[in-house]
Amino acid sequence: MFNSLSDRLTATFKNLRGKGRLTEADVDGTVREIRRALLDADVAVPVVRSFVSRVKERALGLEVSQSLNPGQQVVKIVNEQLVEILGGQTRRINLAKNPPTVIMLAGLQGAGKTTLAGKLAKHLKSEGHTPLLVACDLQRPNAVKQLQINGERAGVPVYAPHPGVSSEFEEATGDPVVVAGNGVSEARQKQHDVVIVDTAGRLGVDEEMMKQAADIRAAINPHEVLFVIDSMIGQDAVNTAQAFNEGVDFTGVVLSKLDGDARGGAALSVTHVTGKPVMFASTGEGLDDFEVFHPDRMAGRILEMGDILTLIEQAEKSWDKDEAERMAQKFVDQEDFTLEDFLAQMQQVRKMGSMKKMLSMMPGAAISKQQLEQFDESQIDRIEAIVRSMTPHERVAPKLLNGSRRARIARGSGVHVSEVNQLMERFSQAQKMMKKMASGGGMPGMPGGGA
Ligand code: GDP
Repeated sequence: MFNSLSDRLTATFKNLRGKGRLTEADVDGTVREIRRALLDADVAVPVVRSFVSRVKERALGLEVSQSLNPGQQVVKIVNEQLVEILGGQTRRINLAKNPPTVIMLAGLQGAGKTTLAGKLAKHLKSEGHTPLLVACDLQRPNAVKQLQINGERAGVPVYAPHPGVSSEFEEATGDPVVVAGNGVSEARQKQHDVVIVDTAGRLGVDEEMMKQAADIRAAINPHEVLFVIDSMIGQDAVNTAQAFNEGVDFTGVVLSKLDGDARGGAALSVTHVTGKPVMFASTGEGLDDFEVFHPDRMAGRILEMGDILTLIEQAEKSWDKDEAERMAQKFVDQEDFTLEDFLAQMQQVRKMGSMKKMLSMMPGAAISKQQLEQFDESQIDRIEAIVRSMTPHERVAPKLLNGSRRARIARGSGVHVSEVNQLMERFSQAQKMMKKMASGGGMPGMPGGGA
């Protein structure tokens, strides 16, 4: 996500490091680099223009700061401007006073609407809502079936025109406007407090599709119309977004496929050109690959300041509370951190979701991109195998592990002795880190994260 933009911007700022004051030439050079980086990331030209002019104006007017050097001040300005073009405040779903809250999805075919419908339903359910999904994409073969599968995975019911339609080759028929209306009535009748209506897209913007979307909008009068856009479509994003903004007057944007290596400029342009906030991000094909979009955190991620808050939230969601408390108690009691604990931590980290994604949210200082690319989740399996091959006694007293014991463990776990040695080295670093934290406080870190 935004990798190359991020690299370019951070490289630009490095040049400012250590400067006591900024000359006009420094500012010009920096602004020029920022402009190029944004354009290369496919950010729309008008957005780039307004962005750099604001940055320049503010950078030239910098006042001497007690706490920040000029380089840091420029980073701060760029950060603030990024937050602004990403929409400023986090925007939550506008819930209806009289439920059900009706949410309609719109966007091109393949944008990720049906996938998003399942993710959003799951997310809302986890917040205590009782959503109903409504299948109005009657255009794309199999879209109804796909929504039903997503609904099932999310544990959310699906209202579909023809429950029996399940063949890949059979197109569901019916009038999507009628289906949408019936779906909302069904939700009201069965007391669902949220309805999510999936609609049909086309490969490109076309009048018929837009009319259908507008007709559905008029029929169900939604509280939110979410425009789902594939972040990888580059410069086309702006035109597509404008067309949908005029055609269906959406209320919020969902950026999908932010997990790709795309240059990501779409994300940075849509809000500026439509005036509508990005509300959610879709970051993979799984139902949990979904985030509430926080402009400030996203800007922080782009500038490699690390997105610790999102990281912590994700951790909280999947963290085994008992395990975390057990670990915390160990700190308090100043007990030794053992290999068993090490393994338990690694497993916790894995539970939080894709390791790579997690690590990529950590501040640049903690882990380099290169390390990230080299990180292999199967390493955790090997670590587990190695630890399991130790006797319980060895696990709590790793000092026992002499050469012959290590050779036995390597044989038992099917790895090379050097891997056992590497693990012990990493464990001992983790142990030191834990000791330091136990004495100094702070959030438990992730040993082995820098694998
Ligand atoms: P729709 O036509 O707008 O309903 O799009 P779909 O939901 O069917 O998504 C189109 C394709 O993109 C499917 O293969 C999805 O699995 C995939 N997809 C959707 N969202 C994401 C995402 O956030 N990341 C990735 N990598 N793939 C996605």
